[in-house]
Amino acid sequence: MAEFDVIVIGGGPGGYVCAIRCAQLGLKTACVEGRGALGGTCLNVGCIPSKALLNATHHLHEVHENFEKMGLTGAKVKVDWAKMQSYKQDVIDGNTKGIEFLFKKNKVTYLQGWGSIPAAGQVKVGDEVHSAKAIVIATGSEPASLPGIEIDEDTVVTSTGALSLPKIPKSMVVIGAGVIGLEMGSVYARLGTEVTVVEYLDAITPGMDGEVAKNFQKILTKQGLKFVLGAAVQGVEKGKGKNTVTYKLRKDESEAAIEAEVVLVATGRKPYTAGLGLEAIGVEMLPRGQVKTDAHWATSVKGIYAIGDAIVGPMLAHKAEDEGMAVAEVIAGKHGHVNYDVIPGVIYTTPEVASVGKTEEVLKQEGRAYKVGKFSFMGNGRAKAVFQSEGFVKLIVDAGTDRILGCHIIGPSAGELIHEICVAMEFGASAQDVALTCHAHPTFSEAVREAALACGDGAIHA
Ligand code: FAD
Repeated sequence: MAEFDVIVIGGGPGGYVCAIRCAQLGLKTACVEGRGALGGTCLNVGCIPSKALLNATHHLHEVHENFEKMGLTGAKVKVDWAKMQSYKQDVIDGNTKGIEFLFKKNKVTYLQGWGSIPAAGQVKVGDEVHSAKAIVIATGSEPASLPGIEIDEDTVVTSTGALSLPKIPKSMVVIGAGVIGLEMGSVYARLGTEVTVVEYLDAITPGMDGEVAKNFQKILTKQGLKFVLGAAVQGVEKGKGKNTVTYKLRKDESEAAIEAEVVLVATGRKPYTAGLGLEAIGVEMLPRGQVKTDAHWATSVKGIYAIGDAIVGPMLAHKAEDEGMAVAEVIAGKHGHVNYDVIPGVIYTTPEVASVGKTEEVLKQEGRAYKVGKFSFMGNGRAKAVFQSEGFVKLIVDAGTDRILGCHIIGPSAGELIHEICVAMEFGASAQDVALTCHAHPTFSEAVREAALACGDGAIHA
């Protein structure tokens, strides 16, 4: 039996970041991971492999759409799917090995195997029981399906199967128009797959600013994705070489069906805590399967904490990481803090979509007076030069104080641009603070400044 100050269960972005920070704070730390590689969902079957495929297919899209316009002509680019898959795997391996290196560098003990908690203060991995003053549950999440749909990860797949299909399918139905469904749908649409997205709600990307969502749908439609909205999927019938997805339109209860070679079920994810033995030791759970925690990530059992996808909040890698760092501070007797009002969300399609803070819809519900400053990338020279002038920056500020309440961007590098506003919001900045800050020309960032100007006397290039 080894004795530790902290044992973190789960080596995803929440768990590995927590373990490193604990070690940096002088705590003797171990991290347990069962999947055979560090990095969790994010590095192995989530953020990183999906971005590798998005990157490769984005370049393919550029070749087809824009190369000729720039005077680049010549031999046709062909897709070598096996090679693209091995590029993706190299990216994964490079990242997961990097975390093993960071563990060694920071003296975090990597315990390989599935962990359980036989009693408070104990973690069992294989036949060994280790003791720890504090335990952090960072076991993440797994894909959620719909009743009546049997996933085989062959032709009816979750995002995990979709990242590693044996060949590029001719047709695909994506069930769920959320971030994961649209990113993977984009990948395959760019590779020539006929992609139809079926969504229960009447709009794509639920929770996102309505104007951005509408624009985003229009752009994706132009890129070849088809959408069936307001449709409740009834089931998937597997056939030889094709699957049939049946759905009922919510507006008139009429039934219809679509056939596709592959069905991607992208209806969200659920917390994963199986096998930990939480019930036996009395850790309280929430009705939707998350571990219940207080404001300092403590569970109902003393000395046991939980973070990341396994608890409430947006299922995002950076949210898990922030909680990992914050709970490490708490365990070390310091102050740990996560500002849940300023957690950006990004969709890595082309164009990218990014948002932080409140949407107009939420502010209306709250009855709060606000002003909107908007700037189209049509007025941004850099965006025009790279054929990415679709989209806009929308900044939302308090009508009385000009303080920034939210920002929603659809356009080039939106996922990078959003951080200027995250920092501004952390500092309680006003739109005028951003508007008075010199922005280099020609950059996409100028569109953020112009949106800030539009909250006041007006943008220059609008
Ligand atoms: P996880 O990353 O799920 O890690 C938990 C780890 O714990 C797993 O490795 C698991 O094997 C291990 N584990 C579980 N139980 C045990 C046990 N008993 N013993 C030992 N080990 C255990 N988020 C973003 O922010 N940006 C993105 O672009 C993005 N893209 C995504 C794309 C896809 C296709 C998917 C599926 C997800 C994406 N996400 C993205 C979400 C992101 O991956 C998760 O929010 C993030 O990984 C959660 O981190 P975590 O540490 O809480 O859990």
